[in-house]
Amino acid sequence: MMKSVNPATGEINQKYELHTEKGIIKIINSVDKCWHQWGKTSFFQRSQAMQNLATLLKSNKEKLARLMAMEMGKVLYEGVAEIEKCAWVCDYYAANAENFLENENIETDFSKSYVSYQPIGTILAVMPWNFPFWQVFRFAAPTIMAGNTAVLKHASNVPGCALALEDLFREAGFPENVFRSLLIKNNMVETVIKHQAVKGVSLTGSNPAGKSVASVAGSVLKKCVLELGGSDPYLILEDANLVSAAKTCATGRLLNAGQSCIGAKRFIVVEKVYAEFLENFTHEMMKAQFGDPCEPETTMGPLARMDLRDELHQQISASVKKGAEIVIGGEKPDRNGAYYPPTVVENVKPGMPAYDEELFGPVASVIRVKDEKEAVLVANDTVFGLGAAVFTQNVKRGEKIAETKLQAGCCFVNDFVKSDPRLPFGGIKESGFGRELSSHGIKEFMNIKTVVVK
Ligand code: NAP
Repeated sequence: MMKSVNPATGEINQKYELHTEKGIIKIINSVDKCWHQWGKTSFFQRSQAMQNLATLLKSNKEKLARLMAMEMGKVLYEGVAEIEKCAWVCDYYAANAENFLENENIETDFSKSYVSYQPIGTILAVMPWNFPFWQVFRFAAPTIMAGNTAVLKHASNVPGCALALEDLFREAGFPENVFRSLLIKNNMVETVIKHQAVKGVSLTGSNPAGKSVASVAGSVLKKCVLELGGSDPYLILEDANLVSAAKTCATGRLLNAGQSCIGAKRFIVVEKVYAEFLENFTHEMMKAQFGDPCEPETTMGPLARMDLRDELHQQISASVKKGAEIVIGGEKPDRNGAYYPPTVVENVKPGMPAYDEELFGPVASVIRVKDEKEAVLVANDTVFGLGAAVFTQNVKRGEKIAETKLQAGCCFVNDFVKSDPRLPFGGIKESGFGRELSSHGIKEFMNIKTVVVK
């Protein structure tokens, strides 16, 4: 049985029967059978269905936002924005997939030689709850436009979203088995990966899940793409605009109640502007109105689950025991639901969870450094390498740091890190490998085939 629980109240929304092993195999076989047809359809046909899907998303955005609020606590306006972004990625690949996958002629001494991009079959997506629609669409839109089919194992706390996703594909006019959701627990993922029809796996989630999925995929020599955790550093240099930097940093930290892989997590501030930045930033963090995600004035809902809230609090308490100091927040509120207040912690040092680990909630670690050189050293002193940002009014200086010094997959100057269908997205180090989005993402699950004619 899978339970959908409202994190704002702890009440059960609905219970769902899990798919049995026999049921899973039947679904995968149907999706595989469908691939043999779908892989041969034209880009025109695929893009018609993808555009219908974008339209359907736009017309259902309020309803889908409410479903997310009920299952994982996202505030309504963020949910609406998420669904609009899903429609964007559908339209983007509907318009561009054919160009991205055009044959590429290569000059050689043969009479003809070129690269052709061919779909490979059914791909498994193992997805997290934090952006229950966006994470799935940024995988599914390119994968399905490329001629592959997909099965989804969504996070166990968002089964309603998993089923809504399947319905959306069907209602948009895709063949029934192009995209299917499997209601399974994570212990069944191995069985799915090992099914002969499954040709690859894309996981977005935590590092332990990534390691487990990668080792199963490795054991049967199947390709995987991993989008894992992050501890994104934000560098505040002495020449930054401290007012706008503080606003942007607080927005980047509090989006989705701080539950974003590319959330701003460590704020590394040079000592000359440390006090002023901390004051401005704390002021911005305190503006968050946390409460019922369905109320219009709420800007920050509860965390997605009670256990995740308790785990986050544990990380803060352990850091404080080792000498970190709470500037604001840091206490579990005395109310029902998985709420946690905006929290700022300073005097954060190596060896503390607030320095070494990912804090998946509205908690900011602020770290004082001497200068730019030390800021870069601290920024890179992490096992993660997903996003990073640098704040300076000297754009050339910012670009140099972003391009050549920060060890991360996505580096922004004077803004918080965000994904965009047009730009590749992914990490290095323990944040994973492979890329999603743009012309790069659509090629991950393709046979990049060399064709030569003598
Ligand atoms: P999670 O616990 O790792 O779960 C993610 C997905 O993996 C869920 O479907 C989960 O299923 C499944 N899973 C968990 N353990 C597994 C295992 N041993 N074998 C196979 N599947 C397994 O992560 P989460 O709590 O949902 O999401 C938060 C994490 O995701 C954070 O670390 C965040 O940074 C990361 N994330 C990364 C990105 C990115 O693009 N890099 C984007 C969003 C989130 P169950 O729910 O059934 O356990």
